[in-house]
Amino acid sequence: MSDVVELSSAPVSLLGMNRRMLADWLVSQGEKPFRAQQLMQWVHQRGIIDYAQMTDLSKVLRAKLASLAPIRLPQVKVDQIADDDTRKWLLEVEGGNAIEMVFIPDKNRGTLCISSQVGCALACTFCMTAQQGFNRNLSSDEIVGQVWLAQHLLRQAGWGEKPVTNVVFMGMGEPLLNVNNVFPAAELFMDDWGYALSKNRVTISTSGVVPAMDMLSERLDVSLAVSLHAANDALRDVLVPINQKYPLADLMAACHRYIKAYPKRHVMFEYVMLKGVNDSTKHAKEVITLLQGLSAKVNLIPFNPFPGTDYQTTPWALVLDFQNRLMASGLQTNVRRTRGDDIDAACGQLAGDVADRTKRTTQVRQTTVKFEHHSLREKR
Ligand code: SAH
Repeated sequence: MSDVVELSSAPVSLLGMNRRMLADWLVSQGEKPFRAQQLMQWVHQRGIIDYAQMTDLSKVLRAKLASLAPIRLPQVKVDQIADDDTRKWLLEVEGGNAIEMVFIPDKNRGTLCISSQVGCALACTFCMTAQQGFNRNLSSDEIVGQVWLAQHLLRQAGWGEKPVTNVVFMGMGEPLLNVNNVFPAAELFMDDWGYALSKNRVTISTSGVVPAMDMLSERLDVSLAVSLHAANDALRDVLVPINQKYPLADLMAACHRYIKAYPKRHVMFEYVMLKGVNDSTKHAKEVITLLQGLSAKVNLIPFNPFPGTDYQTTPWALVLDFQNRLMASGLQTNVRRTRGDDIDAACGQLAGDVADRTKRTTQVRQTTVKFEHHSLREKR
């Protein structure tokens, strides 16, 4: 056992460490690397974060962990349950910020939609999160903390031992602009000693950050979703402005490289249906042409409106017509059911509470409650 306790200064964020990081850190502390397994099982599987309860660790190590690596979790500020059992939490994270997280229960699965950033810098015109501006990346322990907390609260609420079966990075933020923290977190979700989710049940969704898509293809075997929303550059430049930097040809090339790296997988394309904007027969044909030859599925998302937006939802019959056209071409296409809209928990409605934003494209009144941490922030 080493005596380096006093030498370390900043607290270590144990919650967000993947297996390798944790083993390396333990070794740097003079511990055996297999302690990583014990620690991960306590924290992520049994949901125990009080080191004193980790009875198979020595008392000395427990004390050392408590002093060097105290575990901090996001604080629940609002907890709402929708009519369809979808549950949304507003979580306070450091810096006077709040993020949102949503649990979507279904017959055989429980999907947790988590945030990767406070706000978002990408300014997609139909997304409420974009209207909030961007503050900062979430750390890996803030990302993992969401899953830990949801698991804990859902177990308490009687949802069984493993309430979260799927994790999707589809909350606030662009995960592929925060790979240093998102990748270790995703690894932990799939690790047998961590949350032990199947690798088909962890999904990273991107608006098309091409270089980071390649990093993913090289390093992280995880499900990939791409927010497409238009299959021609002129329209996508407007709806998803990052398209101006990485146009469709580059985006599709990156998708093909992903499939080359993981031949058994497919790319899930998300397509928000905006009335009179991207929902015509011509648009359907463009999607079909663009996705030809790629192992792909399409998820049509009826647009979820939010205060201040001019976009409207495509009428249901037209959504089905669009779906039928894609299906007729052989593309597997689902229409995503809107969930939790009575509590603003549906896709694109996550607003959180973003302090000191760097950009605000439109003034949108928040539908969530304001909290006292505003005054805390002013004191800082
Ligand atoms: N930044 C990543 C992760 C967010 S995922 C990405 O863009 O993929 C959130 C999904 O909901 C994206 O597909 C997004 O385009 C979609 N979305 C955003 N606003 C929406 C809205 N108002 N109605 C329906 N879907 C929306």
